[in-house]
Amino acid sequence: MKKKIKKLLIGTNNIGKLREIRSLIPKKIQTFSTLDFNLKSPKENGKTFKQNSIIKSKYFSKKTNLICLADDSGLEIDILNKKPGIYSARWAGKNKDFKIAIKKVFRKLSDKDKNWKKKTIKARFMCALSISYQNKNLVSVLGKVEGKISNKAKGKNGFGYDPIFIPNNQKKTFGQMSSSKKYRMDHRFKAFKKIKKFL
Ligand code: IMP
Repeated sequence: MKKKIKKLLIGTNNIGKLREIRSLIPKKIQTFSTLDFNLKSPKENGKTFKQNSIIKSKYFSKKTNLICLADDSGLEIDILNKKPGIYSARWAGKNKDFKIAIKKVFRKLSDKDKNWKKKTIKARFMCALSISYQNKNLVSVLGKVEGKISNKAKGKNGFGYDPIFIPNNQKKTFGQMSSSKKYRMDHRFKAFKKIKKFL
């Protein structure tokens, strides 16, 4: 991919992700979102974050004829065999209620180990970013941020699993941090650093 991009579709219907990705894209690029085109997300039937980000970026590019940057991301918890992983959004149910998803995480952790609240529950957020044009994937990268699960939900900022994730070397959850602080250390930022030379 040699040509610099002038127009870019951000392939997500998640407002939290859209805000964050928009803040990272150079101002000289004109950005569009799938919300501008009223596009529903495709079925994510890949087995990895990377496969799903490619599925989304190709799908949205084909629908709009724009180059598309799409993200697939999620939370991996080691003692839950890396779940919810690519199922992170699905754990929140049809109504995307993350109170339900967080309850499910706590329930699964209790099933696994009654004393989990007294232990360090290692976890990480993963993010795959892919840029595609039509049916051609141009580039894909992966970023991650390591951390642990908080023993209760804390903070009202951010989205998704932010209230239960404490990144390494920090005391606060992502949900308790300002968005500008979170954006500088998270999985999406790290993936973006690897892909920005293509923009
Ligand atoms: P998808 O990539 O749209 O399939 O969904 C990924 C899901 O992972 C989101 O709906 C969130 O629940 C979760 N997730 C991904 N990134 C973050 C983040 O930065 N904070 C909190 N939750 C996240």
